[in-house]
Amino acid sequence: MTVMTNVLCLAALLASAALADPGVEYTAPVPPPSAAIETGPVGAIEVETDKLQDALSNPATSRAELHGRAEALFGGILRPEAAAIGGVELRGWEKPDTSSEDSVSGLIDRSGNTIAAAKFNTNAAPPPAPDLVDAWHSGRALASDGMAKYDDEDQLGKGTLGAYLYTKTAAIGIVFNKHFKSIQRWLGDEFAAATAIHESAHARDHAKGELNAKEVKKGEKQAFETEFKYLRLVDPKGQKLAWARVNFCRPDTMAPKLVCDYLTHLAKISWYGEKGDWDGLVANLGYQDRAEDPFAHAHGPDDGHGH
Ligand SMILES: [Zn+2]
Repeated sequence: MTVMTNVLCLAALLASAALADPGVEYTAPVPPPSAAIETGPVGAIEVETDKLQDALSNPATSRAELHGRAEALFGGILRPEAAAIGGVELRGWEKPDTSSEDSVSGLIDRSGNTIAAAKFNTNAAPPPAPDLVDAWHSGRALASDGMAKYDDEDQLGKGTLGAYLYTKTAAIGIVFNKHFKSIQRWLGDEFAAATAIHESAHARDHAKGELNAKEVKKGEKQAFETEFKYLRLVDPKGQKLAWARVNFCRPDTMAPKLVCDYLTHLAKISWYGEKGDWDGLVANLGYQDRAEDPFAHAHGPDDGHGH
């Protein structure tokens, strides 16, 4: 089916390449690939690990800078004089859990498990935020009613990860990019579920009467804030994200473009989220408010197509 004229689509947009960069700069100079290790091998690796992680957590870091950083770290480990380090622990570089059930319900279930585990965590970490838990329940309700699925009917644009579709009076459901399974297979359901949480947050806000069809940015800010809270549960220090970016999105180990775009997308959410700059995030991702309420006159052929 095509998107009906009175259906709105709150899409999770990937940033367009044409957009200006977010105006943040990575200020430290990029080391040459063969940068000398001056502080002793182990110390140098820790320093380079931290620098690479910093660079990876900044979405404005260029590909060339990342490669320079990665080379400074991994090239250093591979040099003969560093061989004595042996099986060096890359401090903080946790790998994501890449298990996937290859299904939408796998996304929903995995994120639910993660949230539930955080609830019963006995360490000092705060429990998951109520708005995150509410979002998950909303997504779970849609999924169990068969209203969360892959976009096998090509409703979404290519640069769209997922969307929450709704009418003036009803939820239609959540759709994921039809290639979303490749994100799940590369990164695992736990990481991939960030988008499920985002769309579920729209469903939550819709049910609470807090979705305004004109105020797209406000709705997105609410959803991204919830998605950020989920990301911090999955990856409290950004280490898994950094690991995935450097291991999957180098020229010689190239994951599909959608997977790397998704990782960049998560890095942006982390980058802006850490600063609480939700306005900056939605501006960077290209969201626009609507000048008119699309539901106010949803009879014309072009009314109500939303992005
Ligand atoms: Zn959204």
